[in-house]
Amino acid sequence: MIEGVGGGLIAYSDLILVQCPECRSCARITTPNNAKGLINPRYMGHESKRLQCIKCGLTKEVHPKRRWDNLWAYTHELFDEKQGLDWYFGLPLYLQIQCCGHKMWFFNFDHLSLVEKYIKKNIRPSGLYYLSIESRLPKWMKLSKNREEVLKAITKLKQQ
Ligand SMILES: [Zn+2]
Repeated sequence: MIEGVGGGLIAYSDLILVQCPECRSCARITTPNNAKGLINPRYMGHESKRLQCIKCGLTKEVHPKRRWDNLWAYTHELFDEKQGLDWYFGLPLYLQIQCCGHKMWFFNFDHLSLVEKYIKKNIRPSGLYYLSIESRLPKWMKLSKNREEVLKAITKLKQQ
């Protein structure tokens, strides 16, 4: 799994690219009422999400419900990104690829570029690496021996 560098995945969850269940092209999951910038902290599952495919016109929404403690939350468990699925609809993430025997995936192109930049800058082919302890990237991605393969896989996804 790949979390955002620093901040965590929630920072990238305003746009999630997935495979459309109808036509298999790239569909978008967005947050119609983007809570970013509001004073309230953001919690996973607190916001309504919209799935939209421009190619075939598919549109779906999921809405959280108000809980006993007055918080808004989904009644179902969020799907597991480690399985390469989006949290809300459980659809396969569009940007995913096998790499070094692991599943590598990203929520969107911003997320992908950020990780790419991070690896280019911080992991040296010489074998030394300068990643800070805060980095949430999985260990296998931080190994300098995997650097070239990881970057190659990222380039492949970018051309998708
Ligand atoms: Zn579609």
